[in-house]
Amino acid sequence: MRVWVCGVRGSTPAPGADFTRYGGHTSCLALARDGRPPSLILDAGTGIRRVSALLEGAPFRGTILLGHLHWDHTQGLPFFSAGDRPDAEVDLLLPAQGDAIGVLERFMSPPHFPIAPAGLRGTWSIDGLEPGDHHIGDFEVLAREIPHKGGRTFGFRVADGTGSLAYLSDHSPVSLGPGPAGLGPYHEAALALADGVDLLIHDAQHRAAELTAVAGFGHSAAEYAVGLAEAAGARRVLLFHHDPTRTDAEIDALVAGLAPGPVEVSAAAEGMILDLGGGPEH
Ligand SMILES: [Zn+2]
Ligand SMILES: [Zn+2]
Repeated sequence: MRVWVCGVRGSTPAPGADFTRYGGHTSCLALARDGRPPSLILDAGTGIRRVSALLEGAPFRGTILLGHLHWDHTQGLPFFSAGDRPDAEVDLLLPAQGDAIGVLERFMSPPHFPIAPAGLRGTWSIDGLEPGDHHIGDFEVLAREIPHKGGRTFGFRVADGTGSLAYLSDHSPVSLGPGPAGLGPYHEAALALADGVDLLIHDAQHRAAELTAVAGFGHSAAEYAVGLAEAAGARRVLLFHHDPTRTDAEIDALVAGLAPGPVEVSAAAEGMILDLGGGPEH
């Protein structure tokens, strides 16, 4: 499984010289297997614009899976040029919540935006996804509801038979209680998603020391992401959904300040390419 990291920011894009190494685009990953072009996209933040470049002039044919519908996970949709062309074939899936197209139209239609989802070119299907196990294109996907704030939110576990990743981009475990370290419990859904994965990509918008002041914002501390990886037996954790004010130097310091442990920890950076289940890492 190849994973292209296309957007790593939470909340809103972060342009500017202080953000160039980790990148300013909001949440988006592109996945492929067996040397094929990307066919599964996790979230459609502004980073989805990078996926068109990965396709080198070809249309996108595959699935976009939205973990939830906040702006930083959806605003790239109408700017995904490889999906907005007559020969594109896109299945868009979002956490089930009534009329899926109607829900999308609430943020994507005049007067908020010039066109509605029906105005996207190509063949688009838009549906709700229920929690559980799904076969989606080349991948096996487990969807589980996780606590966040303001709308139904799923975490995903994606496997292709050789590699596996868990994606919990926006996660507020502290909503379920303090847990062992005051950062939230390692609850059943989070453990099931991250169980033994090669790579856990997890919300790290805050640091533990900041959490009390921002606990109502719906996000995790980086220290929780590392603790979950250890508790679930994940091999590696990639800190994700960086606060839009967190500069490159501050992300470096955040990673350096984490206590050494058994799990390899690094911060997600736009442009990373990760090969899971064998193959070189770039
Ligand atoms: Zn977010
Ligand atoms: Zn969110």
